[in-house]
Order: sequence, then structure tokens, then C-alpha cells
Amino acid sequence: MATQTQSSVSTRCLVRKAKEFHGHLGPFLAIGVRMGQIGLSELGPGEHTDSLRVLLKVSPSVPYSCVVDGLQISTKCTVGNQRLHIENAEKIEAKFKDLNKGQSVTVSPQPAVLAMLKEQTIGKSLSEKKLSQLAWTIASMPEKDLCAVKKE
Ligand SMILES: [Zn+2]
Repeated sequence: MATQTQSSVSTRCLVRKAKEFHGHLGPFLAIGVRMGQIGLSELGPGEHTDSLRVLLKVSPSVPYSCVVDGLQISTKCTVGNQRLHIENAEKIEAKFKDLNKGQSVTVSPQPAVLAMLKEQTIGKSLSEKKLSQLAWTIASMPEKDLCAVKKE
């Protein structure tokens, strides 16, 4: 089991913020935080805040939809500021677009990660501690193992 200490300081900070905002900590919330971070870093250096738009495809049911709040925390693109749009879908995929640079990048969790989480969480009533452990595992996973990135 990976520990908290293997994730970067900024990731840990964002995951804690996301937990406070969302009300509980679970792996899909952590995936949302990481997808946002990865999208931002793939768009390159600089502040993307005002020019960033995100289209998130996700199922409208918990735990999958917990991704939404994680992504809002790490990107500051929210439903309220109209920089995040959510589309109901069976998959989880976020398309990040920087309007100034005209660049976009699509980030989605690796199928193996989703399969692992489905197996460990869906249909099971896990303790808060177990969910939190899974979240910190996601938080500390190497980017390539966690998400696939497609640049356009
Ligand atoms: Zn949740």
C-alpha cells in the first residue's frame, strides 16, 4: 500500500481541500484532483485560470461523480463559474482547453485503475479508513500509471 508521503506536497494539500469541500474522501475524488493537475501540467507552464475550460464526461452517480469535485478543486474551473461543463457518460474523461493558447488535452483514468477500483469499491460498504487509503493510493500513483493523456 502506497503511503501519503509518496505524493507531492501540492497533491496532498489539494486532496485535503477536496475532502473538506466534498465531505468525505474516496478514490474517485482523488482521481478528479489528479486529472485536474495532469491536465494543467500538460497544457504547460503559466496561469490558465481565466482561459481554461474543462469538459468532463462522467456518470451522474456516486462514486464516479465524486470526480467532479476533485477536478473543481485542482483546476478552479467550476460549475458556478461556467468554466466546467459536465456531460453524462459511462466513461470518465476530461478535456482541458486553454482558450488563449488554443491548445487542448484529454485526460482519462487508465482502464486498469478503473477496473481495480470497481473491483474494490462497487457494491461493497467500505470503511472510511479503507476509502481514505484507496484515495491516498490514487494520489501517489505515477502519472502514467494513473491516467492516459491525449494532446490535440
Ligand atoms: Zn464522494
